[in-house]
Amino acid sequence: MGMNEHTFDTVTEDGPEDGPEAGLVYRELVDELRTQPTEWLRAEHRSAVREQRRLKARELAILSVLDERRSIPEPTPGMSARAVRDSLEVARALESLPAIAETAHSGALSWDQLKPMVEIATPESDAEWAERGPTWAPADLQRRARAARVVTAEDAAARREARELRCWSDPDAGMVAGRFRLPDVDGVLVKSILEEMAERMRPAKGQPWDRLEHRMADAFVDLCQNYADVTSTRRHRPLVVVHTNGESAEVDGIPLATETFEQLSDGARVVEQRDDAPVVDYGTGRFAIPAELTRILEHRDPHCRYPGCERTRRLERHHLTPVGWNGTTSRSTVVRLCAEHHHRMEPHGTERLVGDPDQPDGLRLIQGGADARAGPAP
Ligand SMILES: [Zn+2]
Repeated sequence: MGMNEHTFDTVTEDGPEDGPEAGLVYRELVDELRTQPTEWLRAEHRSAVREQRRLKARELAILSVLDERRSIPEPTPGMSARAVRDSLEVARALESLPAIAETAHSGALSWDQLKPMVEIATPESDAEWAERGPTWAPADLQRRARAARVVTAEDAAARREARELRCWSDPDAGMVAGRFRLPDVDGVLVKSILEEMAERMRPAKGQPWDRLEHRMADAFVDLCQNYADVTSTRRHRPLVVVHTNGESAEVDGIPLATETFEQLSDGARVVEQRDDAPVVDYGTGRFAIPAELTRILEHRDPHCRYPGCERTRRLERHHLTPVGWNGTTSRSTVVRLCAEHHHRMEPHGTERLVGDPDQPDGLRLIQGGADARAGPAP
């Protein structure tokens, strides 16, 4: 047949004959599925995803018992040691989180949701998370889990130790390449300068927007051209926005050690943004968003708030009730959406988001139209 031996090696143990479609090779399976109607395929896809999640829960249950017996299996081929460790940690956590374990076992939770959820939940909040968790985007759960971790001075020192700026030539590609990794506040400062410059470098009228990577690269070159000759090193105090809930603080979604927070005020102007600050209503008829509200929205909505969308690029501000219909401007009435989903919203489109944007699962989608317009938002 002309197949080489290496290909055969990988097929022997877990080959297709173990699967439910015994005897079908993948291509035949795809051909067979092509004869099915779309609705059937959609339902089959949902059940395949659910089954996969149930099997993951089963794997965790098995791990849990093996763990009791101090007999953790070696990673199976193709599985990283990290993946085994993560599974084991989740399996151990689920022992004190019975409601979440049951939800996972029903197939309602993806691994991307389950993993951060066991970090956030306590035996007291187990039932609540089991109910709300499935509607949270993985990104929101991961963020909540990050915030729940306490960053110690040692962690901060380790981040600082890991900082790097690398530069190398690649003669074949005709490029000089580089990469930097900078710890929390340093990294955010550099990123914000590059992003701000990139945003300013708008294309000439009628020209399409270039990719963000390109604009950031251009901005960096521009920075070098403009500042290469400048000798003045007048000390400046950059503006750093620190978000805090009173217990922990973070900058650009990165949790800070208390020590880092305290040192910040030496070299920077620090704006402290309380996440639990009272809602300020800036009134009706405002298209422009005040700077303070912009900071709150950028922090609260790191991704598009349309249900299920996790786009993070080029988000636009959207009034839940359009400004032209006397919508007010406050953090309860403005959210960030990607351009595509923004277009679907009234008054340009037909859809409408209602609810409490301060909760990651607080918004629901309804069809707009005269009825929705007549009554107050629920
Ligand atoms: Zn979106």
